[in-house]
Amino acid sequence: MQNKILAKESVAKLLNPDQKLRQEWIDKIVTFSHEFVDQLEAMKAYHVIDEGEIPLKLQITENGLELEQILSDLSQNMIKKGLNPASGGHLGYIPGGGLYSGAIGDFLAAITNQYAGIYYGGPGAVKIENELIRWLCGLVGFPSSSFGNLTSGGSIANLIAIVTAREAHSIKAIEIPNLCIYLSQQVHHSVHKAIRIAGLAEAQIRFVPTDSNYRIDVESTKNIIINDQKQGLRPFLLIASAGTTDTGAVDPLFLLGQLAQNFKLWYHIDAAYGGFFKLSTLDHPEFGTQSNAFRGIELADSVAIDPHKGLFLSYGLGAVLIKDVKSMYAAHYYKASYMQDIWNPEDEFSPADLSPELTKHFRGLRLWMSLHLHGINPFIAALDEKILLTRYFYEKVQQLGFTVGPYPDLSVCIYRFIPKTGNADEVNQKIVDAIVKRGDVFVSSTSIDGVYWIRIAILSFRTHLREIDLYLGQLKEVIS
Ligand SMILES: *Cc1c(COP(=O)(O)O)cnc(C)c1O
Repeated sequence: MQNKILAKESVAKLLNPDQKLRQEWIDKIVTFSHEFVDQLEAMKAYHVIDEGEIPLKLQITENGLELEQILSDLSQNMIKKGLNPASGGHLGYIPGGGLYSGAIGDFLAAITNQYAGIYYGGPGAVKIENELIRWLCGLVGFPSSSFGNLTSGGSIANLIAIVTAREAHSIKAIEIPNLCIYLSQQVHHSVHKAIRIAGLAEAQIRFVPTDSNYRIDVESTKNIIINDQKQGLRPFLLIASAGTTDTGAVDPLFLLGQLAQNFKLWYHIDAAYGGFFKLSTLDHPEFGTQSNAFRGIELADSVAIDPHKGLFLSYGLGAVLIKDVKSMYAAHYYKASYMQDIWNPEDEFSPADLSPELTKHFRGLRLWMSLHLHGINPFIAALDEKILLTRYFYEKVQQLGFTVGPYPDLSVCIYRFIPKTGNADEVNQKIVDAIVKRGDVFVSSTSIDGVYWIRIAILSFRTHLREIDLYLGQLKEVIS
C-alpha cells in the first residue's frame, strides 16, 4: 500500500514544481508580459477574425507541453484575435483596464490562495475586501452602517442589489404581477437579466421617458408612478444610471432620489461604468463641477460600481454597495451543518453571507495592491484625462463635419456623419466597419430610437491624446 501511494506521489508532485522550475517559468512569463506591454502601442486594438477560424490550436496532453509552446500558441491565437482590451486603442463598448499593479495582486492572490469567502478562514483577506468596500461606501457618500460585496462585475452587482430590494420589500410571489419597476430604455441590459433571474420578470416594467440628453425625465416618471398607484399597483423599484452605456448620460440622481423617498421605492443606481468619475476634479459646463453630476448618489439604497472599468483593473472586479445590510444578509446567508465551527466577529461580515458565492477568487487584492502602490492621485488624473479627451474629441469630430449627440456628461459621446446623398445609417455603418478593419483603434455603434450612432467610449488608462488624434485622422480619411 505504501509503495502504491509513493508511486502516485512521485507523479503528483509534478504539480508542485521546485524553485528552479518556478524561476524558469516566471522568467519566461515576465519576459512575455514585458513584451506584451511594451508592444501594446504598436499592436492592433482589433484583429479581424475570419469566419470559421478556430482560435486555439493546442490539444490537452497526458504529460504536458513546454511553456514556450504554450506561450507561442497564446500569442498567435489568443492575443492576436478579435478585440485587444488591453490596448489604448480600445474605444468601443466600455473599455477595459489591466493595470500591471493589479496583476501583481492577482498573482499573489493565486499563489497564497487566501480564502476570501469567510472571515474565520481568511480574516486578513476578508478584512482587506471589507476595507475596500468601506472605502467605496465612503466614496458614494453612504453612511458607515452600509456595506456591500466585491463581485465579479457590474452584472452580479446589479443582481445582488435587486435580490436585496426584493427581500427588503418582503415581496411574495403572488404580488409580483402588481409590482412596478421604473427604468429607462437606456438602462444596461444586465439590469433586465437581473430582474429576470431575481424572479421578477412578471412585474410591470415601466420604461420611463428620457429627455434630449437621454436622462430620465423626473416629472413624467412621477406621473407614471402616481398613475400606477391609482390603478392599485405597487410601485417598488426605481433604477437610475450614473453613466449609461450608450451615451454616458447621468440621470438626475438627486431628484430621482427624492422621488424614490416620497413613494417609498427602493432606489438602485447603476454606476458600473461611471461611478468613479465622482472623483474627478474638473469643472463641467452644466453641472458646475464634474463631481456634481453625482449629487444624489448618496440617496440610493444600492449602487453598482465597477473597478474593472473606472479604476482600470483587469476584468473580474465589480462592487455592490447597499445601505440595508440586514436585508442583504437575509437574502444571501446560509448556515450549513458542515460549517458549524465558523464564527464571525460582530463588526466584520463574511463575503459569503452577502453574495451567492462561497469559495471565490480573492479579487480584492488586485485593487488593494493598485491603490497602495499608486496612491489615489494617478487614478484621479487618469479619470480627468479621459473626460478631457472626450471633450476634445467632441469638438474635433464636429470640425470634421460630424453631427454629435449631447455634450458628454462623462467619457462617452455619440456622433454620426450625414452624407449629402444616400442612407446615413448605412454610411455610418461603413465608417465603423472601415475603422474596425484597420484595427488601430476599435469603436462600436448603437441604435437610439432607431437611429444609428457611432460611439466613442474613453476609459482605458492607456488611451491618451495620441490614440484620439490617430482615430480622428482615420475618420477624416474614411469620410473623404
Ligand atoms: C458594464 C456595465 C454593466 C455590466 O457590468 P459587467 O461588469 O460587464 O458585468 C452594467 N451596467 C453598466 C452601466 C455598465 O456599463
